[in-house]
Amino acid sequence: MARYSEIKKILKSHKLRITDRRIDVLEFFLREKRTMSFKDLEEEFKDSDRVTLYRTLNAFTEHGVLHKIPDDSGFATYGLCHDTCDSEDHYHDHMHFKCNECGNIECLEENVPVVEIPGYQVKEANLILKGTCRTCVA
Ligand SMILES: [Zn+2]
Ligand SMILES: [Zn+2]
Ligand SMILES: [Zn+2]
Repeated sequence: MARYSEIKKILKSHKLRITDRRIDVLEFFLREKRTMSFKDLEEEFKDSDRVTLYRTLNAFTEHGVLHKIPDDSGFATYGLCHDTCDSEDHYHDHMHFKCNECGNIECLEENVPVVEIPGYQVKEANLILKGTCRTCVA
């Protein structure tokens, strides 16, 4: 595990206690460089019980290491946050893309277009685009 010190640094800077499981899960996200559903994580960490995995993901989500991507599949999907996220400032307005062919969900660079509705205060915007991803088109 080449990134061991980098991973420890990320955990520390997000005020997370360092545990083996947290190191493994974060290493997996950094290595795969893609979003991951709870199912993906269960398959990767067969030796872990579900509760520990849930707790790890919840801690990461609370402390700004991962963000949860709203999805209708019934499985929560998680993406890595930017370096700047922490437990207080952890806001995302980028769009997501879900591929109908391979099922992968990607974080896009592009932000959700600003929508102003008279009389409403918009605090959050989530947008999932669906279609065929770059890999599947090729
Ligand atoms: Zn975040
Ligand atoms: Zn695809
Ligand atoms: Zn994202």
